[in-house]
Amino acid sequence: MKARVEAACVRAGREANAVTIVAVSKNRSVAEISEAVAAGAADIGENRVQEALLKFNAQRTKWHMIGHLQTNKAKEAVKIFDLIHSVDSLKLAQEIDKQAAKIDKVQDVLIEVKTSPEATKSGILPQEAGKLLAEISGLKNIAVKGLMTIAPLVSDSEEARSYFKQLKELRDKINSLHITPYTLHMLSMGMTDDFEVAIEEGATMIRVGRAIFGS
Ligand SMILES: *Cc1c(COP(=O)(O)O)cnc(C)c1O
Repeated sequence: MKARVEAACVRAGREANAVTIVAVSKNRSVAEISEAVAAGAADIGENRVQEALLKFNAQRTKWHMIGHLQTNKAKEAVKIFDLIHSVDSLKLAQEIDKQAAKIDKVQDVLIEVKTSPEATKSGILPQEAGKLLAEISGLKNIAVKGLMTIAPLVSDSEEARSYFKQLKELRDKINSLHITPYTLHMLSMGMTDDFEVAIEEGATMIRVGRAIFGS
């Protein structure tokens, strides 16, 4: 896994440590997570708050919320996650801000962008990202670090490239327009079937389940 990530970084002319690997442990046991952590996994991703709560105490690593977050789960989410990848509405951002304030935390988040036209995917439309970011900038207990996207399922990973490109271009545009008082750095994109292409297109964080834990 690490070797493949490093090779992709070299191909893209990027530093070998430019990419964080989030090991996605949904549907995996605490024992499997412990094994991954022992083997060097420092970042663990879950897509459901309830499941993460059950596993959280067993492993003191960095926890990432990568799935769709319901507003009524924000209270628990801010207690355990270092980074929430899936903010896609002002309402959710406001609730995260409110719950984070209660525990004196500034919650790091990413904005999930729907780069593919597939209707089933969550995330906001690219053209709405700037407005949402400007609104969130006013909230004190939430800090946007970058953007996240889920590419559509394709048979050839090359077909995912345009979605990753789109996300990077959107981040660069937001930064050049100074929509936020801070610079967005993170790009969370790429999974088991397409992470190498995502790295070539600038991913700073990949979310990998099957390539680490098996199918
Ligand atoms: C499950 C999941 C992943 C990991 O998928 P794999 O194909 O197993 O690597 C990444 N991101 C999200 C949002 C997921 O739900």
